Amino acid sequence: MNRLFPVAFGLLLLIAVTGCRTPYADTVTQVATIDALLAGVYDGTVPCRDLRRYGDFGIGTFDHLDGEMVMLDGRVYQVPSTGVVREVHGPLTTPFASVCPFLPTIELELATGTDFAAAQQAISDRLGNANGVYAIHLRGTFSRMKTRSVPAQTKPYRPLAEVAKEQSVFAMAEVTGDVVGFYLPPFVKGINVPGYHLHFLNADRTQGGHILDFAVKQAMVEIDPLDKLYLVLPEPPANVDLGKDRSQELHQVETSR
Ligand SMILES: [Zn+2]
Repeated sequence: MNRLFPVAFGLLLLIAVTGCRTPYADTVTQVATIDALLAGVYDGTVPCRDLRRYGDFGIGTFDHLDGEMVMLDGRVYQVPSTGVVREVHGPLTTPFASVCPFLPTIELELATGTDFAAAQQAISDRLGNANGVYAIHLRGTFSRMKTRSVPAQTKPYRPLAEVAKEQSVFAMAEVTGDVVGFYLPPFVKGINVPGYHLHFLNADRTQGGHILDFAVKQAMVEIDPLDKLYLVLPEPPANVDLGKDRSQELHQVETSR
């Protein structure tokens, strides 16, 4: 027998064992922290294309806070405040994003007429554990979908709660598409958004944004339970108070409509 055979076989086995799962499986990787974003740290630090190292699914924003990010099937889409969606190719960076490899293991169907609040309740009831970390994907048709996006900012940057007052709101009707995001537990406070944080992208990839409300016509939910949180902190922001409790500001930003 060729003496190289055991070596080659061993190598193949190693590739098979390690290659079938990304090192970031079951991990939500995030760039920077929500409190830094709330404080107005909008300069991008990580190229969007580098997010693919950590997964194919996620949400975030862009350099200068230029719109809402949806990452789906490894493609990154930008929903700027003009509402004209574009797929991101070039060197665009992100100041804040959360991504994971999406490998769902839980599925449920939402009843017709279910609104955003009721959908969150139905998903939470199914999960039965408010302390878990979950990637959430809805695929379906919505009789109404209300989203927002934020306008690109120039320096000196103002806090997000102030900027969010200038958000664009988009109302869609009878729209088919994907809802992408996460449920994160209360203890991520300061680091990320506790609770549900979901973005939308329509099937044509022409409309979307940060979800404020919706009503389901027909939708399936896929859920990937995650058990690791990986923080990427490329450039710690200087001269920013990250000790302050910004929960009220976050609530205002997440829900203002
Ligand atoms: Zn958002």
